[in-house]
Amino acid sequence: MADYCTPASEPPATASEGPFAECVLCRAPTEYPESTKGVTLCPVCEWQEAQRTACSG
Ligand SMILES: [Zn+2]
Repeated sequence: MADYCTPASEPPATASEGPFAECVLCRAPTEYPESTKGVTLCPVCEWQEAQRTACSG
């Protein structure tokens, strides 16, 4: 058996083609496909929301 490294750093196969859902806060394209139900947030707003919920107790 060959003992060479296999590349494991490739990004997971997410929705690679649009249309993507818009961020409900800043309307930036999110990582979620448009068919995603509910609130979709871009990575930035997602992080900010996490900060807010963490702070608001
Ligand atoms: Zn956003």
